[in-house]
Amino acid sequence: VSGRKGRKHGKEVCDLLIMNIRQLLTIPSTEGPLSNPDRKSLGIVENGFVGIIKEVGEGKPLMRARRSVDAKNNIVLPGFIDAHTHMIFAGSREREFSMRVGGRDYLEIMKEGGGIQSTVQSTRKASREELFTESYRRLNDILSWGTTTCEVKSGYGLTTSDEIKMLDVARKLGNEHPVDVIPTFLGAHDVPVEYRNEKEDYIDLLTNEMIPRVSEGNYARFCDVFCEEGVFNKEETERILSAGNAHGLKAKIHVDEFVNIGGCELAESVHAVSCDHLLKTDEKGIESMKSAGTIAVLLPGSNLFLMEEEKPPIQMMRKKGLPIAIASDFNPGSSPILSMPVIISLSCLLYGLTPEEAIVGATVNAAYALEEEGRIGSIEKGKKADIVVMRYSNYEEIPYWFAQKRVECIIKGGEIVVGKGGRLN
Ligand SMILES: [Zn+2]
Repeated sequence: VSGRKGRKHGKEVCDLLIMNIRQLLTIPSTEGPLSNPDRKSLGIVENGFVGIIKEVGEGKPLMRARRSVDAKNNIVLPGFIDAHTHMIFAGSREREFSMRVGGRDYLEIMKEGGGIQSTVQSTRKASREELFTESYRRLNDILSWGTTTCEVKSGYGLTTSDEIKMLDVARKLGNEHPVDVIPTFLGAHDVPVEYRNEKEDYIDLLTNEMIPRVSEGNYARFCDVFCEEGVFNKEETERILSAGNAHGLKAKIHVDEFVNIGGCELAESVHAVSCDHLLKTDEKGIESMKSAGTIAVLLPGSNLFLMEEEKPPIQMMRKKGLPIAIASDFNPGSSPILSMPVIISLSCLLYGLTPEEAIVGATVNAAYALEEEGRIGSIEKGKKADIVVMRYSNYEEIPYWFAQKRVECIIKGGEIVVGKGGRLN
């Protein structure tokens, strides 16, 4: 859907042709992020083909292809975009999982030195090479489920050098792995233990040293804050994100996960690209996001693993026309899930999203949540060819066949990376 074109023997030539597609989801996106998407929003082409580099259409292709992929009468859709992950970390936290299923809650576990701080300790100890090797393997898994772009946050270093170490690993992953990595600086994930009684000093470190360094080194696209009771309050969040904005880092907020402290109301003043979690969000927060053009990113994986029964106010989001994306929140504590098809199922089962809302949330709207809508998220002329063939005959099967890996083929930037002839086989 981008790249070279050529002519040969009087016929159009494309680099790669995907044929025998039962149902092609193009999910056109030029009008902006989609609110209240329905079947029509998916831009379905029955019995279609995709010519990479040239065009999308119905019937028999008129072009000659240098190479072709037989979709074998399956569905074809844009590669999934995971707009919220913490996939670089060392250590794991299965002990906490056991505590939690035994009845202890997240904030309680955090107070006992579990939670984020335990991952901070092990990530600080890990070398760049160790972090890279582990994360590269995780990216292979992420890709194998059909995700072709992945946002990756720092936030387990919480010192200038350890945060840079994580972002350096993110950059190297993006350079060496087929999955595109979009880096986010999350130095405000928590207040590190050594600053527990000097939170102001840590905020100074964030705004005066870390953010400028991250920006100068071009290490991240976004700046994110965990705006929550007992972590960073509304005013502190605004200060940190404004400093990020001043250094060219766009704002994202972890907000309204446990307690609503009004963080969503910052969407306008900090120009938040996305607000994520949103379990406790109220009408005022939704209105603020709507008028700021912010994408709501929902993370049902952490709901499941924290065994929270709360859900985001989906009905009100629909009523106000707020565009919704979904993401894995992949992290070792509250969401060890890296599969976007699983997240699609969970957002339907736990939050009541329709399959159409969930698929749009994992593609086009997720692209908007990363400001990547001009490049990815749909199968359209001019976009990068990130495309997945799944062994289904219609898209409603994606959430339905829970946790079944049905990826037949993945094309990343016009190259087959998984499937017959793929480089990762
Ligand atoms: Zn998160």
